[in-house]
Amino acid sequence: MHSDSDALFPTARGRHDAQPVYGHLIGGEWVDGAGTPLAVLAPATARPFAWIARGGAAQIDAAVQAARRALDGDWGRLTAAERGQLMASFGARVREQVERLAWLEAHDTGKPISQARADIRAVARYFEFYGGAADKVHGEVIPYLNGYNVSVVREPLGVTAHITPWNYPAQMFGRTVAPALAMGNAVVLKPAEEACLICLEFGEIARQVGFPAGSLNIVTGLGEEAGAALTAHPDINFVSFTGSPEVGRLVQEAAARHHVPVVLELGGKSPQVVFEDADLELAAATVCQAITQNAGQTCSAGSRVIVQRSVSERFQQLLAQRFAALRIGRPEDDADLGPVINATQQRRVLDFIENARADRLPVIAQAPVPAALSEGFFVPPTVFGPVPADNPLVCKEVFGPVLALQLFDTEADAIALANGTEFGLVAGVWTRDGARQQRMARRIVSGQVFINCYGAGGGVELPFGGTKRSGHGREKGLLALEELSTTKTIVNRYE
Ligand code: NAP
Repeated sequence: MHSDSDALFPTARGRHDAQPVYGHLIGGEWVDGAGTPLAVLAPATARPFAWIARGGAAQIDAAVQAARRALDGDWGRLTAAERGQLMASFGARVREQVERLAWLEAHDTGKPISQARADIRAVARYFEFYGGAADKVHGEVIPYLNGYNVSVVREPLGVTAHITPWNYPAQMFGRTVAPALAMGNAVVLKPAEEACLICLEFGEIARQVGFPAGSLNIVTGLGEEAGAALTAHPDINFVSFTGSPEVGRLVQEAAARHHVPVVLELGGKSPQVVFEDADLELAAATVCQAITQNAGQTCSAGSRVIVQRSVSERFQQLLAQRFAALRIGRPEDDADLGPVINATQQRRVLDFIENARADRLPVIAQAPVPAALSEGFFVPPTVFGPVPADNPLVCKEVFGPVLALQLFDTEADAIALANGTEFGLVAGVWTRDGARQQRMARRIVSGQVFINCYGAGGGVELPFGGTKRSGHGREKGLLALEELSTTKTIVNRYE
C-alpha cells in the first residue's frame, strides 16, 4: 500500500494542496479546522503526504464541553459491561484492519512495517484487556460502628485530558485512552502533531462501533497552542501526559492551578547491567535490539549498558557483530530500524554522535546509513565506550539509536552507575546468580526491572511508569484503572 493511496486515509475531510486533510473529532462529529492546516511529513522521504487541523483554545473548549455532556448523557448512562462490549468491538474492528492501519502508522512515523503491525495489534489488545476489566472493578464494604453500613465505590474522574508523543502514536492511544474509557471517563486527546493520523482513524473506528458522541474527542494541533489550552482548561479532572521532562513540568504547573491530578510518563536513560556470569550472546542481542527498536525513540530504550570489566572485551565484540548486521531502511523495506521522526531530531542525534567523537570517546560499532536513504531522516546506530559517567551520552536522553557502554568491577559499582542519572524508568540485569538478581532488582531505582530479558515498557498487563525525572503515576496493568478513577466513601446509618 502506498502513502498516496486514498485507501489509507478514509477519515480525511478532503484535500489540501492535493493531499488528504483531517479535521478534529468533537462531540461525535468531524469538524474542519479553522485556518491553515499543518503539514505531516513522511520521515523516510522528508516529503509532506497529509495535513492536520491546527486546533487552539476554541476547539479544546468545545471538546471539553462535549465530553462533559457525554458524561451527563448517553456515555454516563452505560453500564460498565456495556462499556466493555464497546471496547471489545473496537478491538475487533482494529484487528480486521491491521494492514491498512499499520501502513498509515508506518508512513507517519517511518518505522518498519512489521513494527507498525505489532503496534496496531497492541492497541487492539489494550482495548480487549481494559474492556474485559471494565465490569470487574469492585468496591468494598468497611466494618464500622454498629448500625452503619460503609461502602467505598469507584467512580470515573470525569473529563480526562490526554497528551501523547509521536514515537508510538498508536500504542500511546491504546495505553492512555483505553483505561480511561473503561472506567467511564470522557476523553479529550491532543496527540503530537508530528505523527497523529492513526489516532484520528481510531477516532473514526470508535464512532463506527457506537461509542456515544463526546465520549472520545480528538483535537490536533501544536503543543503550545492546543496542548497548553487543554492542560489549563478549568473543567478537566485529570491529565495524562507522556513526553519530555521539560514539557511535563509545564503540564503539571498548569494542572496545579486547578488542583487537577496528573500522571507524567517522561524520559529515561535506562541501564542494562551485564555481569560476567550472564549469557553474553543473548544479552548482546537484547541490548542491541533495545536501543535500535523504533530508531531508539523509545522512552524506555536501553540507552546504557554497564558491563563487568572482566567480560568487557568479549561483550564489545558481540555488540559490534550485532550492530554490523543491522539493516536500516524505509517502512516497506521492513528493516531493523527506520529514520527518526524529523529533521530536528536527526540533527539532535547527529550532534550527540559528533560531540562524542569530539570528546574522543571510542566508537565500538557504527552501522552506516546506506546512500540510497539520504533524503530521509536517517541516523547511524552507534555504540560508544567506555563512556565516563559525567559525559552527556550517559546523562542526557538522546532519543536515538546511540548506546553508551560503561564498565564496572563490583556489584556496588554497578548499582551506583545504574542509579547514577536523573532518570528511573526501566532497567535490565543480566546474571545467572539468583541472589544477585534479587539484590539488584531491589536496589535499582526504577519503575520496572527486567532480569535476563528486557522489554521496552513490557506488555499491557505490566504496570509501567517512572521515578525521579522519569515521572510519576502508573499506566498499564490494572493499576491504570486506579489512576483513572476515584473512590467515594458512602456512610449509611441504618439504625
Ligand atoms: P514533547 O515535546 O514533550 O511533546 C509531547 C506532547 O506534548 C506532544 O503532544 C506535544 O505537542 C505536547 N506539548 C508540547 N508543548 C506543550 C505545552 N506547552 N503544553 C501542553 N502540551 C505540550 O515530547 P516528544 O518530543 O513528543 O516525545 C519525546 C519525549 O517523550 C522523550 O523525552 C521521551 O522519553 C518521552 N516519552 C516518554 C514515554 C513514557 O512512557 N515514559 C513514552 C514516550 C515518550 P506537539 O508535539 O504537537 O507540539
